[in-house]
Amino acid sequence: MPRESKSARPETVAIHAGRDVDPASGAVVPPIHVSTTFERAPDGTYPHGHSYSRESSPNRSSLETCIAGLEGGAAAVAFASGSAAVLAVCDAIGSGGHLIATYDSYHGTLKQLDEVVQRWGLEVTLVDTTDIDAVRDAITPNTRLLWIETPSNPLLAISDISALSEIAHAGGATVACDNTFATPILQNPIQFGADFVMHSTTKYIGGHSDVVGGIVVAAKDGQKLDRLRRYQTLGGATPSAFDCWLIRRSICTLPYRIRAHCDNAIRIAEFLEQHEYVERVYYPGLPSHDGHQLAARQMSGFGGMLSFCVSGGQTEALAVTNRLQLIFRATSLGGVESLIEHRASIEGPNTRAPDNLLRLSVGLEHADDLIADLDQALKQTEG
Ligand SMILES: *Cc1c(COP(=O)(O)O)cnc(C)c1O
Repeated sequence: MPRESKSARPETVAIHAGRDVDPASGAVVPPIHVSTTFERAPDGTYPHGHSYSRESSPNRSSLETCIAGLEGGAAAVAFASGSAAVLAVCDAIGSGGHLIATYDSYHGTLKQLDEVVQRWGLEVTLVDTTDIDAVRDAITPNTRLLWIETPSNPLLAISDISALSEIAHAGGATVACDNTFATPILQNPIQFGADFVMHSTTKYIGGHSDVVGGIVVAAKDGQKLDRLRRYQTLGGATPSAFDCWLIRRSICTLPYRIRAHCDNAIRIAEFLEQHEYVERVYYPGLPSHDGHQLAARQMSGFGGMLSFCVSGGQTEALAVTNRLQLIFRATSLGGVESLIEHRASIEGPNTRAPDNLLRLSVGLEHADDLIADLDQALKQTEG
């Protein structure tokens, strides 16, 4: 099979797409090209396609090719953070008009919509996108963008990308999906009709809690993709060569890491669900979860993120985090180490997170060790 074959499976794409032996040295591992500038040929052209590294660079192109391949899109456009990628999508739909977003989207996205995007003249409506009728009712002749986040954060709610894309397109709107929690390994929104897929590559794609990045994949070539590229090169929130190299390197193991995250998460979710001091568990892999059936159709696995409510209130929930010995009390997700967070205190007064909710990013430690840590921390809860 040729390295960039269209029929290659995700594990193969993750290793080979956008990657080749370095012609200058024969190195199998791609070098990090730190040069900001690239030489012109005598006729003034750029024989390798790169002129200045804000415009494009070898490590960035390698990353973009790989993620576009994993998502089944026409092209990808990389940014210095997931947040920059969100703004790029909002810019690509043009100024003015109306935008609908999942009401429990990532809280940073909600802040961007409120504090930045509305100033661009876009009116924002937040809707429970698990409710198809509510979305249909919210669409107006001015609606330009439907922003879906599924699974959502921190309640892991599942929205039907296919049904939502259909009604958004019927209303003339573009569909974008934040696929950060699922990763391209578990869910490919383009296959269900999304026009754009966004990732915070800081999370599972980077996978080691050591690099911040973002990317947008466009389903098709055309004006909106051109606009994304203009926003990238003119806006200038571009990732460094080293960051692109690190993220590209991490993708080689993404399919295997994700499998292990899923295996650990279901074991922990089942353990927590039967625990006497746990009131409720939010994990799409549990049959008790509202979105379980839909997640089973739309995703090839249920991911490594879960939330649970400790019996009692905020005090009991915080006490559990303080007794953990292995799991870190820290924000973010998708790394090899497990992280736990009390979302209500992070998100502030407008949070939708119950005050006894803890969000757990299940890492790649042994599931038995994680369960033992949670068990000893929960045992001391008075309920
Ligand atoms: C982290 C995150 C973002 C923002 O990405 P940054 O890389 O932190 O800018 C957006 N959406 C989701 C779901 C996230 O988890």
